[in-house]
Amino acid sequence: MVIQMGFENSTIKEIIGKYRRIWAINHAESVLGWDMEVNMPKEGILERSVAQGELSVLSQEFMLKPEFVNLVEKVKDENLNEYERGIVRVLSREIRILKAFPPEFVREMSEVTSKSTKAWEEARNHDDFSKFEPWLDKIINLSRRAADYLGYENEPYDALLDLFEEGTTTKDVENMFSVLEKNLKPILDKILNDGKVPSAHPLEGESYRREEMEKVNHWILEKFGFPLGMRSRIDVSPHPFTTQFGIKDVRITTRYEGSDFRRTVLSTVHEFGHALYELQQNEEFMFTPIAGGVSLGVHESQSRFWENIIGRSMEFIHLIYPVLKENLSFMNKYSPEDVYLYFNMVRPDLIRTEADMVTYNFHIMLRFKLERIMLNEDIKAKELPELWTEGMEELLGVRPKTYNEGILQDIHWAHGTIGYFPTYSIGTLLSAQIAYHLKSDIRNFDSLVGRGEFKPIKEWLREKIHRYGSIYPPKELIKMSLGEEFNPEYFIKYVEKKYL
Ligand code: MG
Repeated sequence: MVIQMGFENSTIKEIIGKYRRIWAINHAESVLGWDMEVNMPKEGILERSVAQGELSVLSQEFMLKPEFVNLVEKVKDENLNEYERGIVRVLSREIRILKAFPPEFVREMSEVTSKSTKAWEEARNHDDFSKFEPWLDKIINLSRRAADYLGYENEPYDALLDLFEEGTTTKDVENMFSVLEKNLKPILDKILNDGKVPSAHPLEGESYRREEMEKVNHWILEKFGFPLGMRSRIDVSPHPFTTQFGIKDVRITTRYEGSDFRRTVLSTVHEFGHALYELQQNEEFMFTPIAGGVSLGVHESQSRFWENIIGRSMEFIHLIYPVLKENLSFMNKYSPEDVYLYFNMVRPDLIRTEADMVTYNFHIMLRFKLERIMLNEDIKAKELPELWTEGMEELLGVRPKTYNEGILQDIHWAHGTIGYFPTYSIGTLLSAQIAYHLKSDIRNFDSLVGRGEFKPIKEWLREKIHRYGSIYPPKELIKMSLGEEFNPEYFIKYVEKKYL
């Protein structure tokens, strides 16, 4: 266990002093990014993307200044405590990644991805894959080159995956998915055959006014102890997200679609989980590179914990039912049990972001398979829609009828992020493993949730995970905090127990 140790080494102190400028640029970039999603008028996008591009070049320049790089190099041989070693690990990794890419490549990547994002939007507006296809070919090509620049041991996918989930290999992800495919498919078949878990619910069709659900979401966030107004905000954006400007300013967004209210509740709860991870960082890390969640997978485990383990539990439904009833007039037709079933429907369907807990990982499995093919095999983008359709049929028994329901549904590839998707499954599975350990320590977990007493749960998460920031790489953090390695079996058991 880490004790309060602070930063003592004089070279480390010098590094942190210099890093402050990079931190400030990142801070400004976060504010611009948040504003772009939440407030910016449509046509502001041109100037904003130029401003963001220039800022990121500036922060890279500072990071790669020889005097800064040399300090990081030099301090490696000194006697350092765990915090200090964390600083060195995080900075060395960032410097290594930045140095790997020649400037022409970075420029080309940023140009192609901003154009391909536009092309993807066009393609979606017309449900026409051919508008995106040439850009996807370029992205595939650039991604292969990126992997070569970064270097890898076994296959190119390893290099890209590591950017998002430090230390995780393609083999790890393959193992995770083989456990899932073997165990989860029979569970899904059984759920669908039994017919006890609904695949549709009348509550999906009930409409609400935005102000009504705003009240519900605020009430929930207050119960969670989200420091609204003090250290956080909630706003509205088309794609809900969390951003942290620092430990004391962490913001989330949600969306209001006007019906199917479970979606706004669960996305608010999900983003709260991300935000809590950032809010509960060790304040000693402020302005340093180790303040903040360590990887996308670990981050997603925090959001999924709140969304799936708490947000979809019977106790949570009972907790929020009176508030739902107070604000939604249709609610007097439905009991808490109805709401529970509605929150826990299982339906093999086409859209990843709308998928339930059981089918969700099959969506990721498909993307992982296709991404590996893109990097390892001589494939053209035009062959991918067919592979997508076949994959969906095989994994979930559904076939997209349009490109928008299929290969055009996610923005990730247009952004040039290949290797990102597996972190969603890592997080989802890890959340069940965390829940197991948390519940063994906090025996009255269910009744705490039912009473809306979240303090002990938050405290456990802070102690075990949040306060470490990015000191340890993800695998080490998991091993240290849970006493064992990442294990997908916990998720299988959780789903089995919940649904069967
Ligand atoms: Mg998330």
